[in-house]
Amino acid sequence: MKLFHRFSQMLKERQGPLTEELRLSSTSSHGMLPDRLLPDKTSASICGYCSTGCQLHLHSKKNKPINVTASASYPVNLGAACPKGWESLSVLDSKDRGTMPLLKDVNGRQQIVSWDIALETFCSRFKSIQKLHGNESTAWIGTGQITNEDLALLGALAKFGMGWVHGDGNTRQCMASAVTAYKQTFGFDAPPYTYADLEASDTLVFVGSNPCIAHPILWQRVMRNQRHPDIIVIDPRMTETAAAASLHLPIRPKSDLTLFYALARIFIQNQWVDSDFVKNHTNDYDAFATLVESFTLERAALATGLKVSTIMNLAARIHEKTAVSFWWTMGVNQGYQGTRTAQAIINLALLTGNIGRPGTGANSITGQCNAMGSRLFSNTTSLFGGRDFQNQGDREEVAKCLKIPVARIPTKNSLAYDQILKQVDAGKIKGLWIVATNPGHSWIDQSNWLRLVRTKVDFLVVQDMYYSTETAQEADLYLPAAGWGEKLGTFINSERRLGVIEPITEPPGESRSDFDIFKSIACQWGCGDMFTEWKDPASTFQILKRLTRGRPCDISGIKDYAMLQREGGIQWPFSESHAKNGSPEKERRLFGDGSFYHPDQRARFLFESVQPPTEPPDSSYPFWLLSGRGTSAQWHTQTRTGKSPMLLQMAPAALYVELHPKDAVKLNIRHNEKVQIISRRGSVEATAKVMATVQPGQVFIPMHYQEVNRLTHPSFDSYSRQPSYKACAVQLNKVS
Ligand code: SF4
Repeated sequence: MKLFHRFSQMLKERQGPLTEELRLSSTSSHGMLPDRLLPDKTSASICGYCSTGCQLHLHSKKNKPINVTASASYPVNLGAACPKGWESLSVLDSKDRGTMPLLKDVNGRQQIVSWDIALETFCSRFKSIQKLHGNESTAWIGTGQITNEDLALLGALAKFGMGWVHGDGNTRQCMASAVTAYKQTFGFDAPPYTYADLEASDTLVFVGSNPCIAHPILWQRVMRNQRHPDIIVIDPRMTETAAAASLHLPIRPKSDLTLFYALARIFIQNQWVDSDFVKNHTNDYDAFATLVESFTLERAALATGLKVSTIMNLAARIHEKTAVSFWWTMGVNQGYQGTRTAQAIINLALLTGNIGRPGTGANSITGQCNAMGSRLFSNTTSLFGGRDFQNQGDREEVAKCLKIPVARIPTKNSLAYDQILKQVDAGKIKGLWIVATNPGHSWIDQSNWLRLVRTKVDFLVVQDMYYSTETAQEADLYLPAAGWGEKLGTFINSERRLGVIEPITEPPGESRSDFDIFKSIACQWGCGDMFTEWKDPASTFQILKRLTRGRPCDISGIKDYAMLQREGGIQWPFSESHAKNGSPEKERRLFGDGSFYHPDQRARFLFESVQPPTEPPDSSYPFWLLSGRGTSAQWHTQTRTGKSPMLLQMAPAALYVELHPKDAVKLNIRHNEKVQIISRRGSVEATAKVMATVQPGQVFIPMHYQEVNRLTHPSFDSYSRQPSYKACAVQLNKVS
């Protein structure tokens, strides 16, 4: 609350009455405002940071963005926004925006070149790599930060136009475990909930999730819940959400899977299972019940560090209420058994029949603004619309829909992000195209990433708003891209709601929208004819509709962007037959009829034995290193939010580490003293924050600082290939 207070004070100091007046103007007439404050243009756009998908009104005067207000009528944010949203326009005119392409000269210095030279270089260099080493020697890494239309064009261009086989996205770093869990369990990657469920639950269980900081507008929806809900947080750290909860369970790092299996055993042993639901709508219950038999209360207490009575109390609190919802984010997904842990949460919802009803669900909250869009339209791991590259029928459907020869569609899946980098290391992948993401900061075991791009990649292209990112600095060719606020398209938020992003200003200099860059590359490459129908984002949206027709994610009933704006966004599915019944309802959840997407319409119980942590503390590296979001004012690698002076004031400028007072005494470290954190991969210096948010033997650092991934351990979930950022072993030394 202190932060929000400080933020609103700063807004007032900087902008006087402007913000407040414009905020009021979003729901009333502009007639009361003096002329200098009147915008001459207002766009309604989904926010370009997190997956919550708030709608913002972007105001400009004489083509200069002047301010933001939050849409009061949009069913997601209901007039609210977090600091990132309020400051979203201020980062567009930063001095390190790319305005021209840059190409490395023979001395390795990036020099300004024309778009003609940039496009010619892009195509000739990648083509020559492919000619020498084959179509599997080039790959792209995309993002959940660009629109559905951009993602689809990139995926179609790279795979069907340029003949590439491998591409992945930074969504691998945040959502892959949830995707895999849903696909295997439900038969399709389908988060089942609607945000109204936050207000309709009797009990909300947050696992490895800190919505107060990471999804603050969703936390506001929890605060609107009139049922006086029980709020339970399962997290090793006393997060802001844990501090506000009715029950916090500070489990040992990565003991969550054991806890959930023990809970399942309690439900089964006490006959607290919704037997009708399990019998009629699921498979493999008996095998699951057999597996969890050995997860006794004592075993769970030993693994988690919780008391037996606490675990029993948790089970009873879930059992006693009729509308229980389970919510998870990166604390689960970014684990070496992330997929099975997500499925263990889903199993609890299935066991107790907490799915398909208001206030229930096994609900993964997504990270990036269009991570959900990338899951359907990036054409990386899945073929368009959640299809399978290895399925002949799926390939034929897509070929027919796009009017291309089926032979242009690869018959194998893309490698995952870490596997692409392994192939780089092995000398098999020699060309990389990175779009709107910053692995030089965000990739796990960062120094290895730098080693690879500096010594193993023959040609690195980086396409980004800013030429200054850690990744763009390494680029052989840098392509300047327009950002959010400067382009048109659609995003899909965590609750499957499609919404429109609209431009409010022009991109600077000669930077171009991602969509235009992809179109230009297609023409230069010689495959432009394949994309004549992909004229602009609006016409591409019509292609996306066709690609989803008949799929669980069918959006064929959405007429156009105007309909999306009019309806306050529309959740998928919304098919042509839905549309015949009139306007979409504002809030819709899945599985109300107990039918899932597997051919037999049943959900699966999926499970396996618990594996030991990949790098537990030992005598040399005695601390668990936890990482996560440190503030609602910063976004991931600070590529954009680091440009806002106001947001920068809302969090410490330099890396800090939280450590427990008992450990501080043992190591003779005082609050605000400098410490060195060392892992087997690297070391960083940080300011010590002595506080009991962490338990003894654990330290926490926020993910937004550039140095953080020098420390993290490159282990991966074996199903989703998602990196396990959350827990590794470090030592801590006072800097003398
Ligand atoms: Fe809403 Fe997320 Fe944007 Fe904040 S960052 S305004 S919570 S969409």
